[in-house]
Amino acid sequence: MYEVFADLHIHIGRTKNNKPIKITAARSLNFENIAKECVDRKGINIAGIIDCASPYVIEDIEEFLNTGEAYEIEDGGIIYKDKLCIILGSEIETSESRPDGKKGCAHNLCYFPHLNDIKGFSKEMSKHISNITLSSQRADISAYELIDIVEKYNGILVPAHAFTPHKSFYGHCTDRLEKIFKEKFNKIFAIELGLSADTYLADQITELESRTFLTNSDAHSLPKIAREYNKIMIKDISFLELVKALRNEEGRKIICNYGLDPKLGKYHRTYCEVCKKTIEGKAPVTKCDTCDSKNITMGVFDRIELIKDKKNSKSPNCRPQYIYQIPLTFIPGLGWKTIEKLINQFGTEMNILHKMTFDDIEGVVGDKTAKTIIRAREGKLKLDAGGGGVYGKVCNE
Ligand SMILES: [Zn+2]
Ligand SMILES: [Zn+2]
Repeated sequence: MYEVFADLHIHIGRTKNNKPIKITAARSLNFENIAKECVDRKGINIAGIIDCASPYVIEDIEEFLNTGEAYEIEDGGIIYKDKLCIILGSEIETSESRPDGKKGCAHNLCYFPHLNDIKGFSKEMSKHISNITLSSQRADISAYELIDIVEKYNGILVPAHAFTPHKSFYGHCTDRLEKIFKEKFNKIFAIELGLSADTYLADQITELESRTFLTNSDAHSLPKIAREYNKIMIKDISFLELVKALRNEEGRKIICNYGLDPKLGKYHRTYCEVCKKTIEGKAPVTKCDTCDSKNITMGVFDRIELIKDKKNSKSPNCRPQYIYQIPLTFIPGLGWKTIEKLINQFGTEMNILHKMTFDDIEGVVGDKTAKTIIRAREGKLKLDAGGGGVYGKVCNE
């Protein structure tokens, strides 16, 4: 067994011949470029690409396989340069009924072992989605129904960014996943935390104690790949091995989650849509402290405070460590050119964030910025929380 790094939530912007898949994502974010970025710059060994049910993307994948640069394996996944296993996935938005009678919506990450499986899934889902070629489209079914279709094509379902206010189970639909999945809840063995939450927040909900937590980037551009990732103990890179790790089977497991300090996420605290400001008062903030308006976007921190059923956030013993990382783009005074210089010098952003010494970094960026990068690593920087779709930031001291 050995350690690998996995980022299981990467979008596609356009296909190779420029057909739009996710409008808000970068054009350069295509299947082939993602594979290259993971191998050449990020040191990622398992990449979940979650726009693979689009027939246009399927064409790209077939072409990519035909070049001979990549091949499918029996245990599931596409191997590229013998270093990267690409997991074919699809993010589906389901429609849920809420206790208040309104419709909720939630994102689901569905992963499949083989191209043929996701092709079958894509065909069947096109009956439930009006435009199957685009990313993360709304389906007319609930997750309770979706999971049967996913399993029919040998896949697994993982609730995506489980607490975000607009499109997630805890953020928009329910206070308990068990109410959504009912007797099928045992099929949900992992959830994705999302950028605005971390292990310690999520472990305040009892039903999650036995579930694996994933930290993924939800990247909409190449540089954002691996801004969150998982370190996994595994025997080989394949779909089958990944599923075992998520299920904590036969010694396979997540051994560490690397993620943003959740304060930096876009939805960490409640945001007033009238005053256009993030409210950092005592959680849960359910209305504005200035104008009293309830026209707010509820923060993940506030939402968890509202629905938690545990008094402390003591994680179960088997829970892996969650290591905060502050990506270089968040460091004040650090521009693109300098980031390029750093990565060219030290190989990957992870090396810079976690491994290189002050002296190494100082040689490239000078004393002041090097100090900030080291202070970020030590968790010593003061952060302003994000909210309402705006990232948090490192305070200028
Ligand atoms: Zn999503
Ligand atoms: Zn207000």
